[in-house]
Amino acid sequence: MLRGRMMDFPLTLTHLLDRATRYFPRSEVVTRLPDKSLRRATLGDVSARCGRLANALQRLGVGPGDRVATLCWNHQQHLECYLAVPAMGAVVHTLNLRLHPSEIAYIARHAGDKVLVCDRTLLPLWENVRAEAPGIEKVLVVPDAGPAPEGFLDYEALLAAESPHHAWPGLDEDSAAMVCYTSGTTGNPKGVVYSHRSTTLHAMALCMRDCVGVSEEDTVLPVVPMFHASAWGMPYAAVLAGAKLVFPGPHLDPTSLLDLMAGERATLAAGVPTIWLGILNLLDENPKRWDLTSVRSMVIGGSAAPPSLIDGFRRRHGLEVTHAWGMTETNPLGTLARVKRSAGDLGDAQRLEARASQGYAVPFVEVRHMAVAGDGAPVRLPWDGASMGELEVRGPWVASAYLGDEGSDKFTPDEWFRTGDVVTIDAEGYVRITDRAKDVVKSGGEWISSVALENALMAHPAVLEAAVFAGKHPKWDERPLAAVVFKPGQTATPDELRAWLEPRFAKFWLPDAYLTVEQIPRTSTGKFLKTRLRELYGEHLLKNP
Ligand code: AMP
Repeated sequence: MLRGRMMDFPLTLTHLLDRATRYFPRSEVVTRLPDKSLRRATLGDVSARCGRLANALQRLGVGPGDRVATLCWNHQQHLECYLAVPAMGAVVHTLNLRLHPSEIAYIARHAGDKVLVCDRTLLPLWENVRAEAPGIEKVLVVPDAGPAPEGFLDYEALLAAESPHHAWPGLDEDSAAMVCYTSGTTGNPKGVVYSHRSTTLHAMALCMRDCVGVSEEDTVLPVVPMFHASAWGMPYAAVLAGAKLVFPGPHLDPTSLLDLMAGERATLAAGVPTIWLGILNLLDENPKRWDLTSVRSMVIGGSAAPPSLIDGFRRRHGLEVTHAWGMTETNPLGTLARVKRSAGDLGDAQRLEARASQGYAVPFVEVRHMAVAGDGAPVRLPWDGASMGELEVRGPWVASAYLGDEGSDKFTPDEWFRTGDVVTIDAEGYVRITDRAKDVVKSGGEWISSVALENALMAHPAVLEAAVFAGKHPKWDERPLAAVVFKPGQTATPDELRAWLEPRFAKFWLPDAYLTVEQIPRTSTGKFLKTRLRELYGEHLLKNP
């Protein structure tokens, strides 16, 4: 074999940091602080402060491979941890501040966290965690609302005492850069360990035009928390490209976000459907209040973006949504919905259909979907747009194992990752999620897609949100039930909702009951919490036959 004669140059985050320092020192990094004022800095400032942070952490005893946890909102200092900690050869571990304190403590213990960087505003949360996370020896407090209290190290004071120069070590591209835990609703969260290589390649993929296309000209607003799968890699892609970054801090309400988007002239923003649903409603009520002409795309993922949301933004406000699918285990981007040129002249309805799908795989991610044959052997399903099976993926930014020895059943003998998502894949490669495997409604042995029913219900003019889940049934085992939140001042009867769905679905798919609720319970990362819905209302049909 003739081997290629190219350099073996490591793909590390240190290169992103160096590049930003050299080429984009004037790109802005803007943070909204707890008091709502804006803190303005540049990538040049961030780079110098990364040197200071690495020196401070080294002085505190942080060495190669040590885990430095963060308990922070999205802001400049969090970005500094994202860059400096991996570049010094340590590992940044983003703790999810929406979890229960004992879950946070479990995760911190499991990951072996040694040092914590915590927002001052989140210290009350840390106080409820600390007794159960004794491995964390030092806490650096980001003084987002006044200086660090007694007994804590002040992040800013530590940085001020250090030199901005740090001799970044040469790193193996396969060494760990970040640990992020799944937000699993069953069992303990599992640790996913991103490498420098996986994160760098993922950032490059995000910069591809047919993907998110992050460029130096962009102003990127990651609304998705930096503890949720590295804010989908957006901060890294922005630093790689030299884009302007805007962080919302703790202010995630629709008005604050729209003020920030308009005020900073954001071009790209990323967040989960609930965030965008709130924004769409506010825009519908105040269509002229914000100038959003700078916005070229809003990336939506984390759970299914209803077609009515995508269509509402486009038709009523001229705003484009990019629907993407990913998982903590996939660093996270896996598929993205864009309409191919080869699709030709599609009508609006067909374009929407493609854009509301989870899309086709991004380069280097491979997908297949599988069923179990009668003899128990796994079989690959055809890409016919109809066969439903579990999605499996592989690629350079897909996990090959979890931290510790949990979850080995998620990896197949031929080295694919089992996502737990039930999908169809069509001949063009478009993936459509019909459910999480554990949320599929199994009625009389047939599978009913809760996501398809939810999307249709959310297109009803009176419905704000709807979740469909399995209710227990004496004859059919399970039947679909719908929990519906109406828009303020609006309502619809169960008969009207049923009539709305009837033309679109087979009769046995139609929910047996429509329960009006004030809000739908959610997970810490904004997904419908169907286990809770089942606990609350799952026996409704048994009690109301
Ligand atoms: P997480 O690891 O918290 O990001 O959760 C990953 C899971 O979120 C996936 O396995 C899907 O079930 C769900 N998910 C992510 N993106 C989408 C999407 N665009 N549409 C539907 N479900 C999604």
